[in-house]
Amino acid sequence: MTTVSLKDVTKVFPDGTVAVDNVSLDVADGEFMVLLGPSGCGKSTVLRMVAGLEDPTNGAVILDGRLANELPPRDRGIAMVFQDFALYPHMTVGENIGFPLRLSGVEPTPRQERVADVASALGIGDVLGRRPSQLSGGQRQRVAMGRAIVRRPGLFLMDEPLSNLDSGLRAELRAEISGLVRELGVSTIYVTHDQAEALTMADRVAIMRKGVLQDVGTPTQVYGKPATLYVAAFLGSPRMNLLEASVYVHLDRYVQLNLGDQSLYLQWNDIRARAVSHFHGERIVIGVRAEALTPVGPDHPGDVLHGRIRYLEHHGHESLAFVDIGANAVVVDEVGRGSTEDNAEPNRLRRFGSVVNRLKGRTANAA
Ligand code: ATP
Repeated sequence: MTTVSLKDVTKVFPDGTVAVDNVSLDVADGEFMVLLGPSGCGKSTVLRMVAGLEDPTNGAVILDGRLANELPPRDRGIAMVFQDFALYPHMTVGENIGFPLRLSGVEPTPRQERVADVASALGIGDVLGRRPSQLSGGQRQRVAMGRAIVRRPGLFLMDEPLSNLDSGLRAELRAEISGLVRELGVSTIYVTHDQAEALTMADRVAIMRKGVLQDVGTPTQVYGKPATLYVAAFLGSPRMNLLEASVYVHLDRYVQLNLGDQSLYLQWNDIRARAVSHFHGERIVIGVRAEALTPVGPDHPGDVLHGRIRYLEHHGHESLAFVDIGANAVVVDEVGRGSTEDNAEPNRLRRFGSVVNRLKGRTANAA
């Protein structure tokens, strides 16, 4: 399988648009790397440079340890699947999947065997004789995948391959694609602007903004410890709570995080205290996920924030509480409460709203 290494890669289009700005990124053998970011951030341009469809203005594209800037696309051992995955309408499913083999001169019998194997792995073995117009959207996407994997490429490049499908099918196919790709062990770069897709499918996620790489890490790393404020605000629903605080270290005994109208006191043996202690005297931004804040009763001891629940939002499997803590507002995950009958009672909200709650906070340094 193929390894990919981008070294300080920049792409400036002739009209002056800097689509990719000094990006360095490594994709390991067999790794599923997702490029994630909003529309126009340069994801597709990165992919097209790896494919050889676009030349970098600066920097190196290295495939399997060798400089590939000048290597023609057909010599890169790459298969691509795009959003519009155009299939040949006049060919059957079997002919569509087998087309790359036919082009490279594989004899009909081994070709048909390979097509049958691939089709059965994708669950479309029973529609090999149909034409694309006689297939559902999901089946068409599987045919496009089949055509990509039939030649056993060393690297898959996928550009929003699921974006034309409805949400149920997308969820189904994303599990299928990541399962299949892992089974094949093929290194993959997958472009999407859908963070659910990125976080569920990726071994590692690379997040881009305006051509610049913001963060690279496993889904857990980028979600839990985002490298920049942009990533902290971009990833996750609800968004990470971002609280401005001043840091005061008290004689190596505890750290005070002053949030304006109240403070959080972290004992020195708490790893969170040491994580922020070198910002003594500075204002920082603390990132706290909703699920890291636990509502506790008014008499709870220890480091708590005081807040008033403004409203609850029920999402079936969970509820989110929107809480004012002085000048700040935070979102708290009320784990498990959303699914109880109890929540259907209108006075539930009032009961919560009338209590001044305390929130036991676990902080994560986001900036
Ligand atoms: P999307 O998710 O919408 O496909 P993207 O993150 O893949 O977006 P790119 O297609 O890589 O973004 O485009 C990055 C930037 O480069 C955009 O500002 C785009 O308008 C610009 N761009 C892309 N192709 C060209 C081109 N041929 N000439 C000039 N600018 C271009």
